[in-house]
Amino acid sequence: MDNCIFCKIRDGKSPAFIVWENEKFLAFLDIFPINPGHIDIIPKEHIDYIFDMNDELYSEIFSIARQLAGPLKKVTEAKKIGITVEGFGVPHVHVHLVPLYKGFELDPNRAKKASEEELAEMCEKIRREISD
Ligand SMILES: [Zn+2]
Repeated sequence: MDNCIFCKIRDGKSPAFIVWENEKFLAFLDIFPINPGHIDIIPKEHIDYIFDMNDELYSEIFSIARQLAGPLKKVTEAKKIGITVEGFGVPHVHVHLVPLYKGFELDPNRAKKASEEELAEMCEKIRREISD
């Protein structure tokens, strides 16, 4: 889809702090993190609504969420990694993985724009942890 920001990131036409990818999925830092380390996982295929994904993609995205949650929890020293899907901001499936330290933090109203420096540093830490 031409005007979809996540498709542009997938195609390398829009910059992003990519922490992990394979042939079907991409994970990058949300530039408006609810807490530092907030990751969005997307299918490379443009699909708007998560429940329109086929069974295979649907289970894979959640298994990737679990794989990434470990390294993310370690890097951020979060108590838990929260998971959420709304899908109104960008019409391309994205699963949010959010480091959490206490209850009620998983609130989009808490999202604040992070600086390039913060994102670059976090991206590097997470990538290193994943590759270990
Ligand atoms: Zn898209």
